[in-house]
Amino acid sequence: MKPRSSVMLSVLFLLVAAAAGAQDQGDPTLTEVWEPIPPQIDPGDATHPPSDAIVLFDGTDLSAWSGRDGEATWTVAGGTMTVAPGTGDIRTKQGFGDVQLHIEWRSPTTITGEGQERGNSGVYLMGKYELQVLDSYESRTYSNGQAGSIYKQFIPLVNATRAPGEWQTYDIMFMRPRFRNDGSVERPAMMTVLHNGVLIQNHVTLKGSSVYIGQPEYEHHGDREPLVLQDHSNLVSYRNIWIREIE
Ligand code: MG
Repeated sequence: MKPRSSVMLSVLFLLVAAAAGAQDQGDPTLTEVWEPIPPQIDPGDATHPPSDAIVLFDGTDLSAWSGRDGEATWTVAGGTMTVAPGTGDIRTKQGFGDVQLHIEWRSPTTITGEGQERGNSGVYLMGKYELQVLDSYESRTYSNGQAGSIYKQFIPLVNATRAPGEWQTYDIMFMRPRFRNDGSVERPAMMTVLHNGVLIQNHVTLKGSSVYIGQPEYEHHGDREPLVLQDHSNLVSYRNIWIREIE
């Protein structure tokens, strides 16, 4: 039998513990977190980017971009930029890693080809990972190469394509790959995409760089690389391009 004082202490301890537990459950402030305070921004609207976005094209010029031979020479008119076939891809002068990207695009109304030859362009995150731009409105091609596919890696969940001549949006959340010092992949790239506001790629894990032939593989690259838009010889237009660094 325990001494009386010891039993009393044990009982007292249990009572205090029970009271503390009840207090935890009853006090909502114990689970409130007040710091840090998220920065206040202006979220913008359909025609104005968020106040903390980097504007890559506002309809006036290609000053944020460079081309194959120096200056980007795609056609700028009426607040849009259009691929100048044969002049090559254009790339941002600035490099980016983890980002939220908003970009609007339009397929040409003059239809000259089918499948991959119809309104083909592309948005290459870090110049390597292609989100396909294609006229997939009532036009068939391989599913992992249609609009909204991560080229030859992931089929879009739905085909949310609008008709040629109509403006379309991509909203992209991209997490760059992390490489170890020896160049091996520590964590692959990940991408989420909304097409015209509809989820078409849900946090997919990329298999490597986009390639036309063969299997994708990762090749070691920098933490920040330019965004690239593809010249695939079709008159695809872009407008209202902005990006937010989220790293
Ligand atoms: Mg393409």
